[in-house]
Amino acid sequence: MTGRVAVVGSANVDLVVDVPRQPHGGETLLGGDVRRSPGGKGANQAVAASLAGGAETTFVGAFGVDDGAEFLLASLTKAGVRTDLVSRVDSATGTAFIMVSPDGENSIVVAPGANSRLQLGEEQLERIASADVVLAQLEVPLEAVTAAAAARRSGARMVLNAAPSRPLPDLDLDVLVVNEHEAADLAGTPGSPEELARILQQRAPAVVITLGAAGCVVAEAEIAHLPGFRVSPVDTTGAGDTFCGVLAAVLAEGRPLREAAERAGAAAALAVTRPGAQSAVPTAAEVAEFAEFATGGNAR
Ligand code: AMP
Repeated sequence: MTGRVAVVGSANVDLVVDVPRQPHGGETLLGGDVRRSPGGKGANQAVAASLAGGAETTFVGAFGVDDGAEFLLASLTKAGVRTDLVSRVDSATGTAFIMVSPDGENSIVVAPGANSRLQLGEEQLERIASADVVLAQLEVPLEAVTAAAAARRSGARMVLNAAPSRPLPDLDLDVLVVNEHEAADLAGTPGSPEELARILQQRAPAVVITLGAAGCVVAEAEIAHLPGFRVSPVDTTGAGDTFCGVLAAVLAEGRPLREAAERAGAAAALAVTRPGAQSAVPTAAEVAEFAEFATGGNAR
């Protein structure tokens, strides 16, 4: 193992039901069988970081004391993520209710539950201080994100995936990762990805804007567009999370940001060819094989 990643974030049990169409207010509809899958940006990203191979990954989050918590722990553990510092709080484990209609439209209600009770104690802060890369998102209290950024050791990198969009105070960040919509929200103006990246560099010295099938833009001293890998998408759920987790793991190996974004893009492209979020995350070996034969991207 090279490097350590600490992911500070959310975990949700996703309850998914197929519906013939989205219901109107006050209406009761019959749907299909309920499917349960592990989700939440933090947990998804921790699974992706761990499966990327090189880095020891710890998930720092809050669960309730219920069956959902056991379900999420099992998925994290299966992916090799350390879960010894997950705190248990007096609130239901985060749950997302997802209705999917045949036209592909999703309606989602998230009950954040335990996620909104995440507080970092001494043990969590110590583990964060031992990490090479600290990765957070915005589905947990901002206080936890701020505390994580403050706890990182000198030389370690703070990567924030500023998703979902919400107003953000100044934070001490090294790398900011957002999609195009989040980039425009955060910049407060529309613009090309390159323009938005330059504006967002006021918040972090390095900015990555993901562009779906078009790949991503990486802005440090220079700006580079890394084209997407060409795949036939099956389910884009979790593409952004796979990207962020793998990016953090490769940075923790001490590799440059551009290389990390290239590997993250290959892993995310592979993830969109599979259904689900955590179940779609590829292993390092699968990504290496895919990147060798894939078209698109900048690696060849
Ligand atoms: P997004 O959150 O949609 O911007 O996606 C995050 C990353 O996943 C992108 O930067 C791409 O690397 C990858 N990705 C997403 N959708 C696709 C797609 N349809 N084909 C190839 N790569 C994709």
